Amino acid sequence: MTLARLLAETGAGLPVANNQAAVGLCQSSGTRPELKRVTLLHAIASISQGVLISGPDRLILSANKAFENMSGYSEAELLGRNCALLQGPQTSPKTLKELRMALHAEEPFYGELLNYRKDGAIFWNELSINPVFDRGGALTHYVGIQRDVTERKLHQTQLKLAAQVFAQGHEGIMVMDEQRAIVMVNQAFTDISGYTQAEVLGKTNRMLSSGRQSDSFYRAKWQAIDTTGSWQGEVWHRRKDGAEYLEWLTISAMVDDQGCVCNYIGTFSDISEQLAARERITWLSHFDVLTHLPNRALFMDRLGLEIKRAQRTGLTVAVLLLDIDHFKEINDALGHDQGDRLLVAAAQRVRNVVRDMDTVARLGGDEFAVIVSDLQDLQPVKTIAQNILDALVAPFELEASSGYVSASVGIALYPSDASDIETLLKSADQAMYAAKASGRNCYSFFTPELQDHAQNRLWLTNELRSALTNDQFWLAYQPIVNLKTGEVRKAEALIRWQHPVRGLISPADFIPVAESSGLIVEIGEWVFRTAATQVAHLCKTHAADFQLSVNKSPAQFHRQTAKSETWDQHLERHGISCHSIVVEITEGLLLEASQRVDDQLRSLREAGIQVSLDDFGTGYSSLAYLQKHDIDYVKIDQSFVRNLCCGSKEMTLCEAIIAMAHKLGIQVIAEGIETTEQLELLRAAGCDYGQGYLFARPMSALAFDNFLAQSGADSPHGVST
Ligand code: C2E
Ligand code: MG
Ligand code: MG
Repeated sequence: MTLARLLAETGAGLPVANNQAAVGLCQSSGTRPELKRVTLLHAIASISQGVLISGPDRLILSANKAFENMSGYSEAELLGRNCALLQGPQTSPKTLKELRMALHAEEPFYGELLNYRKDGAIFWNELSINPVFDRGGALTHYVGIQRDVTERKLHQTQLKLAAQVFAQGHEGIMVMDEQRAIVMVNQAFTDISGYTQAEVLGKTNRMLSSGRQSDSFYRAKWQAIDTTGSWQGEVWHRRKDGAEYLEWLTISAMVDDQGCVCNYIGTFSDISEQLAARERITWLSHFDVLTHLPNRALFMDRLGLEIKRAQRTGLTVAVLLLDIDHFKEINDALGHDQGDRLLVAAAQRVRNVVRDMDTVARLGGDEFAVIVSDLQDLQPVKTIAQNILDALVAPFELEASSGYVSASVGIALYPSDASDIETLLKSADQAMYAAKASGRNCYSFFTPELQDHAQNRLWLTNELRSALTNDQFWLAYQPIVNLKTGEVRKAEALIRWQHPVRGLISPADFIPVAESSGLIVEIGEWVFRTAATQVAHLCKTHAADFQLSVNKSPAQFHRQTAKSETWDQHLERHGISCHSIVVEITEGLLLEASQRVDDQLRSLREAGIQVSLDDFGTGYSSLAYLQKHDIDYVKIDQSFVRNLCCGSKEMTLCEAIIAMAHKLGIQVIAEGIETTEQLELLRAAGCDYGQGYLFARPMSALAFDNFLAQSGADSPHGVST
């Protein structure tokens, strides 16, 4: 059915409607109804809105061209189908309910529905449905007038979104007119700047200026906007309360249809926190967090600059490397908190005694460095080094007690000691170790001998690695004589290194290298096993209670692995009594106050291996240590014995040591006895045992066998004393 037929078939008269469109139909009834019908027909067919006419049963009777275009269906396809054929499931249930109720009540309906086109595409359909009644008031038709409003809806949605972004975004937004006067700001603008919209309307954004940036900066900014349409960058602004903040600002020019600038839009965010984080990172990469001194990186930078300057001026640059002596002990005994506290105070003291122009840096741990530049002679460096030492020996006030430290300082000079940074630091390091070696709490200048020494150590380390496998070690035995009886039932095993090129190398030269390289663990095990084999032999051939002393370095206590066989296990496995071995340790080991060391010493003694305290008197000679650790023997260091004579200070010390040890149930061995006078004095003081060239020098196993056989033959007790 077409529109023409529909209109013709309205027969008895024109339909009556209760809406606007239908009013038009009513008014069209008049003196010339046919003409009106034709006019109506054309009007409906050609209007831009879609018109769909259905019967009371909602079956489509007619559709105009605009509806065909909108829906994609031809009128022919639509005829006889239900009006609901476009209806999509995305229309809100509420709207559909309203539609159904209106149809049911035969009342007009207006609404917006999300409908389907023939091709399945969804579109917004603005729809009004009007019931048409005949003269008797019976429903004859529905006239639906429809429009595709998808574009308008999209536009509305975008506007809504934009408004939301404007109102709720975290970035401050200001809209300016073409004169750059503010016309609108959002809430974030107020939150960041502190100004409300009312306070900024009509003003330019220069009112936010902090004054930090120059006029030319602002001129350049607007020039960029005028030429390129936008600008972005960091700007310092001032809040209403006066506080300055850094913002990241973007300004874009908006143009109207004619291409003229109508608005400027500025968006910005407060990046003060980012700036602070950035500055913190820069600071962290150059400074030490604990002491706030320059760190290694900045120190190297500055040293590089000072060296360049010295090349121009011809003056000298000194690097002082400073290491706090025994800092580890403070850390271990008082805790890291107190260690840190001491470091902060030490850093401050060093800073106080150098010149303002000198750099003090913390290179790590307890190691500091000072750059002293523009030197014409060495006096200022010596003064600074001594002042540093003096400043550090004063007690440090820590939480519960006072901390006492000292420092060792190594000094190297540019250009006389080194021509580049690396060598200069290496030289200062060598000088620092020399200071430590010469008793700590002092400073040392780098000398070429130190370099030779360092090279020698390197050579020794390399050679030591293969010495064990190449069988270059052997043990020498030096008798320990009972001063009362003259018997020799003890001896000390002393390592010897027979190098194929260098000949015999003294343990005094290679043991420190073996300790610092860690090779001492392997070497020490070899010494122990060789001594164990030898003592088993001596027990058989000489005396069943014969004892061999073995020196054990602190490094052996620290690096011993749990997996390796313990010394008592080894002795047991070979059927050797643990009493046959005495372990010689030094006071330094006891001073470390480490649980690991305590445990190992205890288990040695529990197994029956005796412990001897070597070189007594050269270290801390603490009574407390003697008491705490069950020590069996104290060995008076040869430095006391060497100068022993009647009435000497050394004599008094030896007497005191002997008396004290005996009170604690400890026996005393005097080392380095070379003269009969020394022997007599020690014997008179009650010393139990003696060791020294007077009796015999350390000798090979074979020579020692002969020695024992000889002394046994000469005297029923052993050597003649
Ligand atoms: P030490 O344990 O105090 O050994 C005593 C040192 O004094 C030995 O030096 C010995 O030869 C020397 N000596 C003995 N009697 C006299 C004397 O009357 N006059 C003089 N001037 N010296 C005397 P040596 O053998 O050169 O050993 C030096 C140090 O090397 C030892 O001192 C010890 O600390 C270390 N050492 C030796 N062997 C070993 C070892 O197997 N392991 C470890 N860790 N250290 C060892
Ligand atoms: Mg010894
Ligand atoms: Mg000794």
